[in-house]
Amino acid sequence: MKKKILVVEDERTIADILVFNLEREGYEAASAGDGPAGLKMALEGAPDLILLDVMLPEMDGFEVLRQVRAQSQVPVIMLTAREEESDKVDALEMGADDYITKPFSMRELMARVKANMRRTVSAEAEAPAAAKEGKLVISPEQSAVYKNGKPLDLSVREYDILNYLSKTPGRVVTREELMEKVWGYEYYGDLRAVDVAIRRLREKVEDEPAQPKYIITKRGMGYYYPEQP
Ligand code: CA
Repeated sequence: MKKKILVVEDERTIADILVFNLEREGYEAASAGDGPAGLKMALEGAPDLILLDVMLPEMDGFEVLRQVRAQSQVPVIMLTAREEESDKVDALEMGADDYITKPFSMRELMARVKANMRRTVSAEAEAPAAAKEGKLVISPEQSAVYKNGKPLDLSVREYDILNYLSKTPGRVVTREELMEKVWGYEYYGDLRAVDVAIRRLREKVEDEPAQPKYIITKRGMGYYYPEQP
C-alpha cells in the first residue's frame, strides 16, 4: 500500500512540484489550495503525513494544525517562510512534528518526509507482557510505548526521543546529540525544537510533567532516562 501524503499549499506551482516529486518517490499525493479544503481532506482522507503551509487563504496553517491535532496524531511538517522565526516554534508548540523553511531543496524535503513518516503500529497489537500496572514499557518491535498496559499516543519523534534516551539509562544526552540522532539529519541550528518536543513528550509520559520520573533534565547539559525510573 502506498503511503498517502496531503499537500496544503496555496501557491499552485509549489503544490504541483511537490505532488509531482512525491509521486515520483512512490507516494500517493493530493493537494488542497486553502485552509478549509486542507482541513477537510486531512480529516476525511486519512493521509499518512501532511505538508502544511503556514500562510493560507481563509484559514491559516496554524488553525488547520490545531483542528487536525484535536482529532489526529498524523505527522505534520509545516512549510514556513524564512523571515518568520517565531512561526517555527509556534508550529512545534502546537503539535507539528517538524518544519521546513522555504525555499527548500526537494532532497531535503524528501529526507524530512521519510524521517517523519509514522512507522506502522498495528492497532490490535498486544501490549507486551511486561506492561504492568504503572510501568512504562518501550517496545522497539512495535515502535510503541505502553503505560499501565495501554499504548501511548506518541508522535514518531516523541517515540524516538524516549527510545533513544532509554537505551543508555543514566547517561546525559545533549540537545545537540538528540537533534542529530533523533531528528535524523544534521543539526540545523534551532535547539528549541528539542525542548518543545521534550515538553510535549513529558505531558504524555509523565504522571506529573513538572516532576518528571522518566525524562530528567540535567541543567545546562541535557536530558537523561534514569537507571531505575
Ligand atoms: Ca502560502
